[in-house]
Amino acid sequence: MMTTALLSHADCLDHEVPRDHPERPGRLRAVLRALEGRDLLRLDAPQADDAAILRVHPQAYLDALTTAAPGEGFAAIDGDTWLSPGTLNAARRGVGGAIRAVDLVMDGTAQNAFVATRPPGHHAERSTAMGFCYFGSVAAAARHAQDHHGLARVAIVDFDVHHGNGTQDLVQDVPGIAFLSVHQMPLFPGTGDPSERGAFGNVVNVPLQAGDGSAAFRAVMERAILPALDAFAPELLLISAGFDAHRDDPLASLDLDEDDFAWVTEKLCDLADAHAQGRVVSCLEGGYSLRALANSVAAHVDVLIARGK
Ligand SMILES: [Zn+2]
Repeated sequence: MMTTALLSHADCLDHEVPRDHPERPGRLRAVLRALEGRDLLRLDAPQADDAAILRVHPQAYLDALTTAAPGEGFAAIDGDTWLSPGTLNAARRGVGGAIRAVDLVMDGTAQNAFVATRPPGHHAERSTAMGFCYFGSVAAAARHAQDHHGLARVAIVDFDVHHGNGTQDLVQDVPGIAFLSVHQMPLFPGTGDPSERGAFGNVVNVPLQAGDGSAAFRAVMERAILPALDAFAPELLLISAGFDAHRDDPLASLDLDEDDFAWVTEKLCDLADAHAQGRVVSCLEGGYSLRALANSVAAHVDVLIARGK
C-alpha cells in the first residue's frame, strides 16, 4: 500500500519578509489549507544538516549567511531577498524536507511526495542568495539521491514561471543529473536561453513568451521537455513546482490554469512510471496569488495522490 507524503513544518512560517513582499507566510498557510482533508502521509520536514547543504554550496557561503542573519528585524541581501531571524531555519527545512522525501520514495514508504516549504530554493546559486531563495533544495536532494541512494540518473523538471538559474548553476556540471526548465522569457532572472545546455548536454531550457497559455505550454512539454526526459530515463524525478505561470499570478504573464498543472503532473508521473518506478518528489517553489496557488497545488497534489495509490 503506497501513498503520497506531505512534508512541511511550522518553522517555514517564521521566515518573515518586509510588508507587501510577495513571498509571504500566507502562501504556505493557503497551500496547507488547500490540502486539508486529503489522504496524505503528513510528516515534519526536518532541518538539513550542514553536510546536506555543503553538497551544493561552499562553507564560506553558509558561514556568510549565518553571520548576516539578524537577531531581530531584517537584513537585506538584495532588494528582493531578505534575512529575518527565522529565515535560515525555514530554508533548512526546505532542504531537509526535500531530502527526507527522497528517502521516503526510495525506501518505499511513499510512492511520491510533495514538499510544502518556504522560502523557495531554485534561484539560489552556489554562492549567491537571490530571488527569494537561499539554499538550492531540489539540487541538494538530487545530490543526496546520488550520494546516499547510488542513483545513476536523477532528473529535475522545473515548471515555475521563472528560470531556475540556481538549480542550473548547482547541477549543470554534475554527471548524472539532468535539469529541464520551461519558463517565461524575458523575465527575472534573465537566464534560461536554449543555448545554456550544461557541461554534458544535461540542461534543457525551453522559454515561453508573455501571453503564452495552455496550448503553447503543452506543445513545448510534448515537443521538448518530455522527449528529453524520456531519453534521459531518470531513476528518480524531482519537480520544482512553482505555480506562478498561472494567469492570475501578479509576478508573471503566462496564461496557465489549474488544469494545465494537473496535466503536466500526469505527464511527469507517466514518465516516472516508465523509468523511475513512479518515484516523484515535488518541491514547492513560487506562486504569488494565494487563491491561484492554493487551487493549483490542490490540482497538482490530487494527481500525485491518485497516481500514488
Ligand atoms: Zn517563480
